Amino acid sequence: MWTQALYAALLATSICSVAAAPSPAELANRKAGLRLIKTSPKSAGKWVSEEEKITKYKSKGIGFVDITDITDNQVLSALSAESDEGSFSAQAVTYPTAVSRQTQVNALLPSVSTTNPQSWLTTLTNYYNRYYRSTYGTQAGTWLYNTVVSVASANPAITVTKFTHSFNQPSIIAKIPGNSTNLVIVSAHYDSTGGSSSARGPGADDNGSGVVVILEALRVLANNRFKGKDTLEFHFYGGEEGGLLGSQAVFSNYKSTGKTVLAVVNQDMAGYSPSGKISIYTDYVDSALTAYTRVVATAYTGATTSDVCGYGCSDHASARSNGFPAAYVCDEPISTSSPYIHSPNDALSTIQWPTVLRHAKFTVAFLVEASYL
Ligand SMILES: [Zn+2]
Repeated sequence: MWTQALYAALLATSICSVAAAPSPAELANRKAGLRLIKTSPKSAGKWVSEEEKITKYKSKGIGFVDITDITDNQVLSALSAESDEGSFSAQAVTYPTAVSRQTQVNALLPSVSTTNPQSWLTTLTNYYNRYYRSTYGTQAGTWLYNTVVSVASANPAITVTKFTHSFNQPSIIAKIPGNSTNLVIVSAHYDSTGGSSSARGPGADDNGSGVVVILEALRVLANNRFKGKDTLEFHFYGGEEGGLLGSQAVFSNYKSTGKTVLAVVNQDMAGYSPSGKISIYTDYVDSALTAYTRVVATAYTGATTSDVCGYGCSDHASARSNGFPAAYVCDEPISTSSPYIHSPNDALSTIQWPTVLRHAKFTVAFLVEASYL
């Protein structure tokens, strides 16, 4: 269920900056190839080089959004709102308080396995890195596109498209049409960083794991020719480590073309969990969708944990800043999460396959349940 809401509440309550002509300093920064990044709601932005984004921020665990190319004042205002300011939404959705498709889900779950994820993640981590501005990152994108096409071919109704960007790594979108064009989206970024543009960056947990999780869910639903009421999309983003670049472009497009999105569930890190529980994060997300996501995760995988992730943490922030309900599902609370991310040590050998299996089962369950929203 959903109702169309206006942005008026947000516009009325925020200081809406009108885009002024760029200053000479800004023009010089742009000409020099610098990027404007924002590290908190109150930050006005700071001009840094592409390399500094990784070496001075990402590798130090400082989240940011690259706002250089964002011209939509509603989105810029949303990116300046604190996480508990929930007034900005293009779609207000009422979510169920219990699961209702157990028979259908339980028929599919035995098909979920780690056989293919192990093979896919081996290939992904064998790229020297998947940095979004490197040739390796481009090669990984080509391989991923071909692999998504191959997995989707089990059901001719599924379409796979490349969403190209200003950088040389596309985002990739697979779509299982439903009876309605309303969208339920699961997402994961496939780029990686090892801590600098030239470092080895296997990106096993961050975020090869999330990629193989949603790819396994696509495989299971494609093989079973699943069709729900709502249309299901699987988003594989490029450029997340550069400040949520791929997801920003995709959701900006969805906003400007008026798409109806009922849910976006982002997974970034889904393969390392000492607690053995899915962790559902609660900041910079839609609280109602987050509650529903927890209902589904608990019903099909058992108890969950919670944490907060901070500003610009992952691609759910792009969905949210464009007015779409978004949730963030991770493998572990931050304090006990993988210590290897954003370094050359985020290796395949650190992946715990029961964790990947848990997330893949959750993803299948969520998609089936949410396809009847
Ligand atoms: Zn990540």
